[in-house]
Amino acid sequence: MLLKEFITAFRQLNPGEKVIVVVRVLFILWMLVEVYVFCAICPTPYTPWAILLYLIVTCILMPLWEEESNRRKFILSVLDVLSVSVLFLSLGNPLQVAVFLFYIAVVWGARFLPVKAAVAYTTAIYLLFTGLAWNERGLSFSFLAHFLAMLGLAIYTSFFSETIRQIQKEKHKRELLVRELKNSFQEQTAAARELEKMNAELKKRTQSLEEYQNELLRRNQELALLTEVLKSTTATLDKTKLLNHTMQKTIELFGVDAAFFALVGEEGDIDDIQVSECCCLDPGDCIQLAKIMLPVLVETKEVLVWRYRETPPVAGTQNYFLNHGINAFLATPLVVSEEVVGMMGFFNCYFTNAIQEKEFFTMVSSQLSLALEKAKLYEHLKKQAITDGLTSLYNVRHFKDRLREEIAKVDRKGSCLSLLMIDIDWFKEFNDTFGHQTGDALLCKVAKTLTENVREGDLVARYGGEEFTVILSDTPHQEALLLAERLRTRFKEEQAKEHAQFGREVTLSIGVASYPEHALSVNELVELADRAMYRAKALGKDRVCSITELD
Ligand code: GH3
Ligand code: MG
Ligand code: MG
Repeated sequence: MLLKEFITAFRQLNPGEKVIVVVRVLFILWMLVEVYVFCAICPTPYTPWAILLYLIVTCILMPLWEEESNRRKFILSVLDVLSVSVLFLSLGNPLQVAVFLFYIAVVWGARFLPVKAAVAYTTAIYLLFTGLAWNERGLSFSFLAHFLAMLGLAIYTSFFSETIRQIQKEKHKRELLVRELKNSFQEQTAAARELEKMNAELKKRTQSLEEYQNELLRRNQELALLTEVLKSTTATLDKTKLLNHTMQKTIELFGVDAAFFALVGEEGDIDDIQVSECCCLDPGDCIQLAKIMLPVLVETKEVLVWRYRETPPVAGTQNYFLNHGINAFLATPLVVSEEVVGMMGFFNCYFTNAIQEKEFFTMVSSQLSLALEKAKLYEHLKKQAITDGLTSLYNVRHFKDRLREEIAKVDRKGSCLSLLMIDIDWFKEFNDTFGHQTGDALLCKVAKTLTENVREGDLVARYGGEEFTVILSDTPHQEALLLAERLRTRFKEEQAKEHAQFGREVTLSIGVASYPEHALSVNELVELADRAMYRAKALGKDRVCSITELD
């Protein structure tokens, strides 16, 4: 078993190692011969040479042993065991034991001495040995050979031990250097790792700084838009202008692809949608989009945000959006007096944070709603300022403004206009008979008859009390007389059925004057029409009187 392993290990050795092993094996065989010869008490002079050869080879190759592989260790251990066994076999001969002991003393001593000291030490040992082994034959060739062998052995041992020490020292130095290098490499690796960590941290910081910068930029844009909205809400009371301005600013600041705003009809009917302004979209598409979104906005009164892949606010509309190249949108309701009166839609707006944008546009939406409410109030006040509260006709102030404008137009165009001054006959009596509320109702009926029987471009106004006036644009005097007559008879017919119990007929007296035929200024025209009306009264009421009849 051991032999088998020995052979396997031997095969794995390199040629140099194989030489050492062969030398050792030969030495052992030689020792066996020695033992045999010593047993016959016949010392041979070749013994020291063999030992010398063995030790020289061993010493020369000693440095190689420094890093013995396990295989080598195994083989050498086996050989050492065999050597010691052979040594023990030789113990029968005291002289042979003594020779071995001296050799060992020389080899072991020389290992720790410099070469010169080793020579001195070996000579001393040799003298001691010869002293001890002195016999009647005196110094023999064999003793000299032993001395030379010892000397050579000591020199080699010392020399190679020194070499080995130096090699070991070098090796130690190299090891130290390697360790240092290793340490410095480790340090450098650690530093590199630290640097990498710092770099990552720096990257993270840069990224968060960039995010912060983007956030600031966005906030800035938001602030700019809000300022614009605020500015326009204070600067204009025209809701179309206001919404258009807001839409344009949003497009500009947020990089929106397309946008529109739509308002529902006067009656608040969401099917009656009017798209007031649209940008980069077909008006037909805007109406379609408004029809999709408005019902949801009316329902929730909240800003709608949708992006591609998200569930659309209205089921089944995703394809419609995608087919129209819309990947994202934001729709803002426009609320007045808690009623959704319209919406603003922004398309393909890639906002960074949908929730923040929703919050922001909710803010914009409520600001716009406030502005729209203000605009509505203003429109209402404006209308009130020019309207008569009872009949909803224009009041005298607006009538005069418009008459001035119409006269200017006539002057520019070289055309003409006529003015009717209308007064209810016996109105005081009517009031006294039926009460003022019925009187008011009659005033409204006059207003209705007048409005319904004039052309769209004509202006009917309540001049004051039970007096009315009509501006007939582009109407010559004769035509005006005919119209006035028609108004008078129509009203009379209507009232004949209504107030049969009134002792008189409810009738109108109408005075007619024309510009520039009779008058040359606003005041003159009014005065002339008034005078014509009084002329009609004087002539017995219920009639139309031209200013021409005055002379
Ligand atoms: P004439 O035929 O000459 O025009 O006589 P009249 O009674 O119509 O005219 P008058 O100037 O004497 O009276 C006008 C009346 O109109 C007096 C006033 O009580 C009434 N009146 C004026 N404004 C209103 C109004 O807003 N509502 C009602 N119910 N009556 C009004
Ligand atoms: Mg009157
Ligand atoms: Mg009257």
